[in-house]
Amino acid sequence: MVHDSARMLGRAVGYRAWHRGPMTIKEQNYWLTTTEFPPTDVSRPVTDVVDVAVIGAGFTGLSAARTLARRGAKVAVLEAETIGWGASSRNGGMVLTGMKLGVKELIAKYGRELTRRMYAASLASIDCVETIVQEEQIECDFSRCGHLEVACKQKHFDNYERQAELIEVEFNHKLRVVRRSDLSAEIGSSVYYGGMVDETSAGCNPARYVAGLARAAMKSGAEICEHTRVNKMERDSLQGETGWKISTSRGAIWSHEVFVATSGYTSATTPALQKKIIPIGSFIITTEILPKALARDLSPRNRMIYDSKNYLYYYRLTPDGRMLFGGRAAFFPENDQTVRRSAELLRRGMIEVYPQLRDARIEYVWGGTLDFAFDIMPHAGQMDGMYYALGYAGHGVAMATCQGQKIAEMMAGEQVENPFVGIPFPGAPLGLYNGKPWFLPFAGAWYKVLDWVS
Ligand SMILES: Cc1cc2nc3c(=O)[nH]c(=O)nc-3n(C[C@H](O)[C@H](O)[C@H](O)COP(=O)(O)OP(=O)(O)OC[C@H]3O[C@@H](n4cnc5c(N)ncnc54)[C@H](O)[C@@H]3O)c2cc1C
Repeated sequence: MVHDSARMLGRAVGYRAWHRGPMTIKEQNYWLTTTEFPPTDVSRPVTDVVDVAVIGAGFTGLSAARTLARRGAKVAVLEAETIGWGASSRNGGMVLTGMKLGVKELIAKYGRELTRRMYAASLASIDCVETIVQEEQIECDFSRCGHLEVACKQKHFDNYERQAELIEVEFNHKLRVVRRSDLSAEIGSSVYYGGMVDETSAGCNPARYVAGLARAAMKSGAEICEHTRVNKMERDSLQGETGWKISTSRGAIWSHEVFVATSGYTSATTPALQKKIIPIGSFIITTEILPKALARDLSPRNRMIYDSKNYLYYYRLTPDGRMLFGGRAAFFPENDQTVRRSAELLRRGMIEVYPQLRDARIEYVWGGTLDFAFDIMPHAGQMDGMYYALGYAGHGVAMATCQGQKIAEMMAGEQVENPFVGIPFPGAPLGLYNGKPWFLPFAGAWYKVLDWVS
């Protein structure tokens, strides 16, 4: 069996490191150092005819591949890099309820009934991840630890009380508002005006989860083709049947159906989708392993935590007791410069929240690309004859898993409840976007202004 050397535990090859004072920060995704990925055979030619070609081996693509293969379809997952290479192994591992937009905005935009279905889908997506983890026995430290949103301003906290009330009335889902005077039971930081807890959310090790999903898809019969970049797709017929001729870096494939699962890495291979998705960089640092008492002080209930800003920070403890601290330190997708600059900016942010971490060593920094639609909503369905699901806007661990599964069920001809299919999917205003996000510096500056004034 031939496989990539980077498949070794941690794919711990080829990272860059640099020195900051007395310490060395590894420019590497910490989660990968904890994870063993299943081997695939890149010396074998790719299968030439399949029922479904899935593009992208992240949560969306692998969840879809598992679902389709379990129904007997012949599935090939075509991945330009390696399993989980995209956002799926790089994220914070927060398995979150809700959507990026607040419920008031959702109701104003979509009405009560559709918003109810969307909110129910977001809660069900946590169950969807939990069921897969249990069924497939994926050892990814999945735990229903709940999430804590913390208010950076008094008016944000006042809004929590209104939101919690609305969510209980409209969706019969209970959130707990935590006053500033009680916040020390939730977080060892004094900079916030209060918080809101949702006990339904969970945490996991995302790299272990995506590796487990890949194993599950393969066990169900799907083939995963790594280092197989899709360059072009054209309508084609084979023995009287219509489908797709797919040109890849490892040869051509013919497929009845195509499922595009490329999220923030969507490219000119699917130009119509590329024009609807803004790729936005997000970055993470992790500290060294902290003394147990300090870790408990920082996050007594081990929550998944994020703040109320537009330019937000999100953070949590890792299962081995490091502080993982992330944010949109730069808006542009990850490259050497944005990753390095982010390490210092995030460290400063972390110390503002937790002065106790002033002397903690930063050991890892990395970045990844998020997928935002122009309306900040998830979207799924069919476009130009291809199936797709994307636009998770930082809520993709649960939603991507769930959308992959639901769209796959829809492809298999099943009746599926999916409120994100068929909602309007806007492009840039006046069509001023061809897939190259020239406006990101302006968007970044605009968010900073919004954080001052709102
Ligand atoms: C730093 C960071 C932190 C995050 N934190 C959280 C969090 O805590 N909680 C949460 O819910 N969400 C979080 N997210 C978002 C979440 O990770 C994503 O929404 C989710 O992983 C999307 O999964 P996916 O499978 O759709 O896409 P991805 O995992 O991005 O996979 C897309 C894949 O498509 C492949 N691809 C692209 N083009 C081609 C092509 N032409 N041919 C073949 N393959 C191709 C890419 O190589 C890539 O592997 C975070 C994201 C980032 C970047």
